[in-house]
Amino acid sequence: MKKKSKPETPAVQPAPALFGEAVPAPAPAVKGGLLAFSYSKMSLYEECPLKYKFKYIDKIKEEPKFYFAFGSAIHAALEFLYSVKAPPFPTVEELCEAFRLEWNSKSYLEKGYRTPQKSEDDYQKGLLMLRAYYEHNRARFAPPFLVEYSTDVEVDGLLVRIIADKIEHQGGGRLLVTDYKTGKDVKRQPSQLYMYQKIVELDPRLREKIAETYGERVASVRVSQMLYYHVPTNKEYHFERADDREIGGFWERVLGVADSIKGLKFDPTPGEMQCKWCDYKALCPHFYGGHPRPLQTLPAAQEHIEILVDRYGRLKEKMDEIQAQLAEVTEQIGRAAKDGGEYAGNSYTARVSKAHKWAFPDREAVIGVLNQFDLYQRAMSLTLSGISGVLDSADLSEEARRKLLEQAVKKTAVEIKVERKPGT
Ligand code: SF4
Repeated sequence: MKKKSKPETPAVQPAPALFGEAVPAPAPAVKGGLLAFSYSKMSLYEECPLKYKFKYIDKIKEEPKFYFAFGSAIHAALEFLYSVKAPPFPTVEELCEAFRLEWNSKSYLEKGYRTPQKSEDDYQKGLLMLRAYYEHNRARFAPPFLVEYSTDVEVDGLLVRIIADKIEHQGGGRLLVTDYKTGKDVKRQPSQLYMYQKIVELDPRLREKIAETYGERVASVRVSQMLYYHVPTNKEYHFERADDREIGGFWERVLGVADSIKGLKFDPTPGEMQCKWCDYKALCPHFYGGHPRPLQTLPAAQEHIEILVDRYGRLKEKMDEIQAQLAEVTEQIGRAAKDGGEYAGNSYTARVSKAHKWAFPDREAVIGVLNQFDLYQRAMSLTLSGISGVLDSADLSEEARRKLLEQAVKKTAVEIKVERKPGT
């Protein structure tokens, strides 16, 4: 294992741009001189350093992925289940409700689905999965020590973040770390678990938390067992504590990746699988209409136009979806609020007002009525307010009013002004 050294701050050097003139390479995310690091960052770098650069250094957003949305909704439901300090545990219906709330917090597009139906199919799949999980595990439900435990630990010039799904305390500072998996049931290497073991054992906060939770003072914490739990099949993959040689080898790998990032080594490593699912093909020299991108030909200002076009399209789709949802909720509030007034939710207050308006769908018929009663000039123009003004005028004959009303449709406009409640 490398000795802890003074954190290096990488020199920012000019690097050849993919297109256009050479620009200074942006530096990796460094907090207080430490490189922000995690297992998923390392995996991405190992998959393709250029993909890592696009995501974590250039900060170009990837498209939402439905499998991440599905996994995080299952994780959120399990977090809800295990967040109890003491039994009783939530019922299976409450568990499903937690999943439903998480699922509905984003539209199908925001979750990365192409159609509402595909999103609904996965929602139903998630419910079945959680019910099966509940049934399979209910006899051994016990409040864990920690759920979704997130920590940042400084080590060897890195600030390493882990988020452990579940940590159980077996007494004497011995811990069992569980990582939930929701994707395919494939053979997994324990390397992600090595990261948990290394960081958990370096984390000074855990001893304090054991003392707070169990009143037990321990000199150190030690991961005794680690577990991948495959939620779709309820299969468990147990791993014994890794020995020093395994952790040492793993840590050499971590430091090697970190050194490459600090050294701004971001050459692409194309491959069938990593490129197939890569959102940065439009920017990558290996994917330019299936041919190598001609370098130095596009003006710098156009650097990201392809990505921006796709992003614009996605945002527009989201906006259309959100506008449709807003119209639907406005209509529901309009129906529920009857005559309007002020209403409060948990986080917002809303002042609802209603105005009844006329609409005249058949323009030709309205012109006919106005001409028949010599009212065309009085309408000033064929706008809604012009015709409504004629309708409201006191000297309008009953017959003209009746004929105009025959062309009118009454609509209710609902106006809602919302404010967030202080402190929410
Ligand atoms: S398309 Fe392939 S080579 Fe290019 S950045 Fe993505 S993964 Fe790397």
